Amino acid sequence: MRDIEMCVCSFCGKPQKAAKKLIASPNGDAFICDDCINICAELIKEEEVKLKVFKDLVLPSPKEIKKKLDEFVIGQEQAKKVLSVAVYNHYKRINYNEHHKADKKSKDAKTNASKSDVELEKSNILMIGPTGSGKTLLVRTLAKILDVPFAVADATTLTEAGYVGEDVENVLLKLIQNADYDIEKAQRGIIYIDEIDKLARKSENRSLTRDVGGEGVQQALLKIIESTVASVPPQGGRKHPYQEMLQIDTTNILFICGGAFVGLDKIINRRFSTKSGIGFNAKLKGSEEKHKIDYTKDVQPDDLIKYGLIPEFVGRLPIVTGLDDLDEKALERILVEPKNSLIRQYKQMFQIDGFEIEFQPDAISYVAQQAIKLKTGARGIRTIMETRMMELMFDMPDSHVYGKIIITKDFFEKEAKPILVKREDIKNEAV
Ligand code: ADP
Repeated sequence: MRDIEMCVCSFCGKPQKAAKKLIASPNGDAFICDDCINICAELIKEEEVKLKVFKDLVLPSPKEIKKKLDEFVIGQEQAKKVLSVAVYNHYKRINYNEHHKADKKSKDAKTNASKSDVELEKSNILMIGPTGSGKTLLVRTLAKILDVPFAVADATTLTEAGYVGEDVENVLLKLIQNADYDIEKAQRGIIYIDEIDKLARKSENRSLTRDVGGEGVQQALLKIIESTVASVPPQGGRKHPYQEMLQIDTTNILFICGGAFVGLDKIINRRFSTKSGIGFNAKLKGSEEKHKIDYTKDVQPDDLIKYGLIPEFVGRLPIVTGLDDLDEKALERILVEPKNSLIRQYKQMFQIDGFEIEFQPDAISYVAQQAIKLKTGARGIRTIMETRMMELMFDMPDSHVYGKIIITKDFFEKEAKPILVKREDIKNEAV
């Protein structure tokens, strides 16, 4: 056995007396001092950060994201493309910036200083489209594809801190809750703020009274949409002086805002017509053909400011995309095609109780036609289906005679009974 007093650190050569602690290897041949242990721990930590970043780089490509969206969202091709690219870039940016941070910390960054000066800024997104056209569905599906937490907020319920209503910070709390209080995870989540158009101030001139619901909330939202470290009360609601706050950095949270923006088309059209009102192509006032607006290409920041969004807020939403009104054919497809379409869900629900259910094609067309009349987009099909299917869902679980239900157009149009097939007949058919 060696005399420990005589031993030195096998890494740095420090004698035992100069070290706080000298630890021997199991066979007693080597030693390591506390300083070298700390240096090793740092090195391992740095490696872990790099490994994590490397793992994060495994991101689906924009095409792969779009393909996944296609499984759940019908139509809206333009919006799906824009969102796929925007979301891909957003997470690529996070990976890149974190990679940089890790590189900057590590020694080799000293030789690469110029490269690590570029910080990529995030681009939040504005979606313009009628109610029930799939805005929320798109964002929800994106979050699912990327496996990041997601929260939805309704802009109309938000107020500036201190007013009666929901504080803007509560939106962040929802995200934290959906990430099971894992702050790191929440900091890479997606927040969808619906009905953002309802925050528009009524005129371009500031009103003398304080604008609780509109401009003030835009200002409050601006802070969290930009990079900030927000303090969030863990229980939500009003801040309690003794409540310990959760700190969340919003730099990497992707904000997607959405709204119907009724009347924005008029503002854009006015701009188009004043432009074409000068020069050779000038048309007589009132005779201009209405331009079919493509919200992805035609919206200028000025149009949104005229609509009533404050310039700073518009500046924070550089990516704009539009969703189309869903026509009858699209509604038919929505009933049937998505991976969790309503028809598939009903089939599953009845199957659990041992029933087969079939929807005839003209029944589906009829529901789509009626839904168009409700003017609530795809929401209408759920309203119609649920109202009519409720009775069936009440009656059928007690039925032991029948095994198959056939839903006809008359079932919806004339409130007729569905065609019911007895279990024994299904068996006979199968033989
Ligand atoms: P929005 O946010 O535009 O008002 P939602 O995304 O909340 O509309 O749509 C309501 C419901 O209608 C969704 O949950 C979904 O079932 C259905 N839906 C709407 N648009 C589509 C679409 N394009 N493809 C598939 N389903 C859709």
